Amino acid sequence: MKHTKVKDLLNSTKTLHEVNAKGWVRTFRNNQFIALNDGSTIHNIQCVVDFENTPEETLKRITTGAAVSVTGELVESKGAGQKFEIQVKKLEILGDSDAEKFPMQPKKHSLEFLRANAHLRVRTNAFGAIMRVRSVLSFAVHNYFQERGFVYVNTPVITGADAEGAGEMFQVTSLPLDNLPKNEEGTIDYSKDFFGKHTNLTVSGQLEGETFAMALGQIYTFGPTFRAENSNTSRHLAEFWMIEPEVAFNNLDDNMDLAEDFIQYVIKYTMDKCQDDLKFLEGRLLEEEKSKPQAERSEMSLLEKLNFVLENNFKRVSYTEAIDILRDSTPNKKKKFQYIINEWGADLQSEHERYLVEKHFKCPVILFDYPANIKAFYMRLNEDGKTVRAMDILFPGIGEIVGGSQREERYDVLVEKMKALGIDEEELWWYLDTRRFGSAVHSGFGLGFERLVLFVTGMTNIRDVIPFPRTPMNAEF
Ligand code: ATP
Ligand code: MG
Ligand code: MG
Ligand code: MG
Repeated sequence: MKHTKVKDLLNSTKTLHEVNAKGWVRTFRNNQFIALNDGSTIHNIQCVVDFENTPEETLKRITTGAAVSVTGELVESKGAGQKFEIQVKKLEILGDSDAEKFPMQPKKHSLEFLRANAHLRVRTNAFGAIMRVRSVLSFAVHNYFQERGFVYVNTPVITGADAEGAGEMFQVTSLPLDNLPKNEEGTIDYSKDFFGKHTNLTVSGQLEGETFAMALGQIYTFGPTFRAENSNTSRHLAEFWMIEPEVAFNNLDDNMDLAEDFIQYVIKYTMDKCQDDLKFLEGRLLEEEKSKPQAERSEMSLLEKLNFVLENNFKRVSYTEAIDILRDSTPNKKKKFQYIINEWGADLQSEHERYLVEKHFKCPVILFDYPANIKAFYMRLNEDGKTVRAMDILFPGIGEIVGGSQREERYDVLVEKMKALGIDEEELWWYLDTRRFGSAVHSGFGLGFERLVLFVTGMTNIRDVIPFPRTPMNAEF
């Protein structure tokens, strides 16, 4: 008999004479009640075992984590909560689970413990919910762009381009590590490590994406991105997924409109499709909040926060205005952070970003027109000669979620900028071609998918919203 998903059984419109469900035991109470989960929903279905007619040997094998198949009648449930339950007629143990050794017993585990068991943590309610939400969010990403005629482009993972110039690249080599080519001084020549060329894992698909936007009009990438972030923050991974739309004939204002509309769409889509999971995650957060002192508790629940983002425009503020605000913020040395920034031209630290979003504006903020010298080489220089048409979107609890810009479309200005920064023109000859043949205004942004998942799930550490986190601390799987 083909099994039916637990989600469909719980949503059944009527009782059913015979059904089969397969899944994993979450708990087994009173030698009678199995809470069965198959991953299709946050909810378990209660399976009532006829313990008098079930061999003692079998009952003993119904342990947390075991895979079982239950066949029986779908009846109305009298207990609180669920509409239906299964009166089990036939029970089969498909895979035993040693109760003593199974690490995911139904109790509260620390997130650190769960991270160390990334292959099993998905069997908990919270991680099941997070991974379903992540999956729906990524579908929403494709939906948004596909509905609007964007072409999905897969940019290379192995590339010679360092779009960000931040020196955070993982090198790729095709050669045996003990036989890397040497230069005249006898030290390793990293410029020849990939079949005679230098390559690294992509830090952004933007430069390649731009070349496609200049032919296909509107494109997006959505793929893995790698940065050798040798630090352990709750917002950085060494491997993360980035969404990068790029649109020809769009300026910075269009780019901000696109980013805002996009974020609101994917959140709305996911709220509609993941109601049970989000409700569960909201409840989990409320529990956590209770253990905090009153003053530190969040004023809004998870769903209120998500709705707030849908209902309010993001506040658009220039970098220069932001610096003025930060300069005017009362410096109070007793406070955890001193928000004040005195210098125009300094890059904002995450505490500055969070001050602007959480304390000052109390809504998502788009900061634009940053000083040219703190942003990447490809951004469009403004007429003032010192700022560029860049924007960062800052979210409460997260800080930067999007980095984007209008690109420098003028060949001469771009080349001059590259020269000043010591970027090899010859290496980027193909990128410069976009400015030599039919150059036009264009813009795009990069959104870190995990930062979006963080926001939507209300989680606080980026390691908890990706199946297998890659950080200096977590890479053993
Ligand atoms: P940050 O200032 O947080 O280090 P960034 O300015 O270096 O980010 P960008 O180069 O602007 O990042 O990349 C675009 C987006 O990719 C960021 O806004 C962020 O959402 C995401 N992102 C960047 N680095 C990481 C990372 N190491 N892990 C996860 N997401 C990241
Ligand atoms: Mg960075
Ligand atoms: Mg940044
Ligand atoms: Mg950025």
